[in-house]
Amino acid sequence: HACNQGEDAYVYQEGDDAKYQRELSLVRDLPLALTQGQLHLVYQPKVNIQKNTCYAAEALIRWQHPELGFIPPDEFIKLAENSGNISMISEWVIAEAIAQASAWHQQGLDITVAINLSAHDLMDDTLPMRLAEQMNTINLPTYTLAIEVTEGAVMTDTETTIHVLNQFEAKGFHIAIDDFGTGHSSLAYLKLLPVNEVKIDRSFIKDIHQNATDHMIVDTSIKLIKGLHLSVVAEGVETPLGIDILQKMGCDIIQGYVYSKPIKAVEFQAWVTNFNH
Ligand code: C2E
Ligand code: CA
Ligand code: CA
Ligand code: CA
Repeated sequence: HACNQGEDAYVYQEGDDAKYQRELSLVRDLPLALTQGQLHLVYQPKVNIQKNTCYAAEALIRWQHPELGFIPPDEFIKLAENSGNISMISEWVIAEAIAQASAWHQQGLDITVAINLSAHDLMDDTLPMRLAEQMNTINLPTYTLAIEVTEGAVMTDTETTIHVLNQFEAKGFHIAIDDFGTGHSSLAYLKLLPVNEVKIDRSFIKDIHQNATDHMIVDTSIKLIKGLHLSVVAEGVETPLGIDILQKMGCDIIQGYVYSKPIKAVEFQAWVTNFNH
């Protein structure tokens, strides 16, 4: 099928057909996944390394497709965003996360559940109020839910996003900037947005023990973020050496395989009970 006509011409490649078919299937099956219980959330601890306690968990979505097996969120979230299905998924994530936060709260576990929201979710200015009301009816304080947004999400329509995030803040939700450093105007967003927490992207963290540039970028970012009186999270820490280096830099919070991979709610509960003893 190759049609190789000069530099710019699209080159049809073996496998494109399969990829397209797969995407079609995933987009088609997504609504079904929601109603047939194929989606679930897993939870990854966020550990305060100054106090050595776990105070929060990030909720991450998982899709077990009946024929195609495990579908990574990086793959289907993008498809859901592009096909207009993301708000359906976000509503499901929100309901699920609130139910879990409520269960933990009732058991006396002091754990904030952080969810990921997409650009499209931040265009809905009724969302902060609806969320706050939903939590209010079950007597769950809004600080038990945190939202993570990427710089990319903010870029789409900055004015509306700032308005919606201000409402989230006014309702008492904790707000984190995700994947810090990978967007285009990170510093401008720190100034414009009502942020409580900044998560430094894993791409800067993973080689911190051997790469002087990454080391410098992370060290300086931590000073900047703390200078603004915000919490700083290092994402994707995999080794005790990583914890050590980040602790010396004054980092507050670590999330990564070094503590735990994302795990099911019951497993997380056991993990956190043991960790915080
Ligand atoms: P993210 O929000 O940056 O989430 C962190 C990702 O890093 C997760 O991948 C997590 O499993 C992974 N991770 C954490 N610690 C380590 C580590 O030490 N080493 C390595 N190699 N990886 C680590 P995951 O669960 O595959 O999620 C990928 C992305 O998919 C997320 O990136 C987020 O952008 C998106 N996503 C996941 N769940 C949701 C959701 O419910 N809603 C939305 N809108 N997006 C979601
Ligand atoms: Ca996140
Ligand atoms: Ca991230
Ligand atoms: Ca990411």
